[in-house]
Amino acid sequence: MRAKCSKMILENDQYTFTGGVSPLDLVEQYGCPLYVYDSAIIERQYKRLTSAFDVPDLKLNYACKALSNVNILRLFKRWGAGLDTVSVQEVALGLQAGFDPQDIIYTPNCVSLDEIELAVQHGVKINIDNISILEQFGQAFPDVPVCIRINPHIMAGGNVKTSVGHIDSKFGISIHQMPLVHRVVEATGLKVEGVHMHTGSDILDPEVFLSGAEILLNVAREFPDLGYIDFGSGFKVPYKLGDVETDIEELGRSISARFREFCREYGRELTLMFEPGKFLVSEAGYFLAQVNVIKQTTSTVFAGVDSGLNHFIRPMFYNAYHKITNVSRTKGRKRFYTVVGYICETDTFGVNRQMTELQEGDIICMHNAGAYCFSMASNYNSRYRPAEVLVHEGQAYLIRERETLEDLMRSQVEAPIFQPSAVGQ
Ligand SMILES: *Cc1c(COP(=O)(O)O)cnc(C)c1O
Repeated sequence: MRAKCSKMILENDQYTFTGGVSPLDLVEQYGCPLYVYDSAIIERQYKRLTSAFDVPDLKLNYACKALSNVNILRLFKRWGAGLDTVSVQEVALGLQAGFDPQDIIYTPNCVSLDEIELAVQHGVKINIDNISILEQFGQAFPDVPVCIRINPHIMAGGNVKTSVGHIDSKFGISIHQMPLVHRVVEATGLKVEGVHMHTGSDILDPEVFLSGAEILLNVAREFPDLGYIDFGSGFKVPYKLGDVETDIEELGRSISARFREFCREYGRELTLMFEPGKFLVSEAGYFLAQVNVIKQTTSTVFAGVDSGLNHFIRPMFYNAYHKITNVSRTKGRKRFYTVVGYICETDTFGVNRQMTELQEGDIICMHNAGAYCFSMASNYNSRYRPAEVLVHEGQAYLIRERETLEDLMRSQVEAPIFQPSAVGQ
């Protein structure tokens, strides 16, 4: 499906978020750079996904590594979602947000048994993705039910950093190792309550996804005590005009029909689970930055902004395209810019981007900044991480303060060699 990409509302030459909140007012009030999340868009995406599936028992576990602010987690809890977590710290955040432990699934990769034990103590669902840990887990906690993460060996999308189901991937237990899984399960007496796969970031073709689903269903058939089958994520959203978007309605129809049929064969209703991150929050996020410098060189016109790869690394890390608009100026002639950051390293947000002619001091907006943007931010160059604002029902709420020097110093400890009494020793 070809799609439009998300955009703010443009009315009377002014951009606004849902409910009429102005990005320029937010920058005025909370400073710059600034992350803004529009809850109406998150809710729209959540409802789109839930209504795409027609099964007796559906559970969407929000993959909170995409955007882990506790207010966002609370919104999902309010709407009835569960949580997908990849670290015991995310588990702790989920519990802080008020999730029932059994509504949290913990899907770590290459963590120690010690960390998994902490998750067991929290009472969350445990998803295991390698045989060594499965064997150790089965001996340590034979009474704790587990989910098993399968690697179906299908290639989803084309990006090796985000595609995690292919043959060389470090994720999941190969379907070719199922005989060994069964041996471990039998020897330890483990109860397998779920099977899981997460193939990667981009479902471009529902047919390819369905063939992966078929592999997981074949595995599911081998376990008689299942409560749920988790098909992971990979729902793609458009980042620019004409991008291919996962046809969620078509995918929902075909998966639901296949799942209902499977449950009839299996003899019992099971929960159909997914764990979307990007699909739910990407389009709801906007990153606002100020143009510090317009710099004409022999080859391009740079627009240098008060941010960089420290705040927003997807363009540099994944070569991701994020649409950029000038929110300060909506009328007038358009020009092409290379938008760059202030980090002492090449940090290009976009090349040859057409925008209403920029002036120093203008505010630009990077779109699709909800998923893997703030959550991947760092303090590189000793810069503060930005503030976050939630726009909800016509109101703006500060949900994270901009950092200060104290935040940079908080965990640093001065060695005694620098105390005055030690000088000269
Ligand atoms: C990251 C992750 C997700 C979410 O992926 P999206 O592409 O953001 O939807 C789901 N499941 C697992 C196990 C993950 O690691």
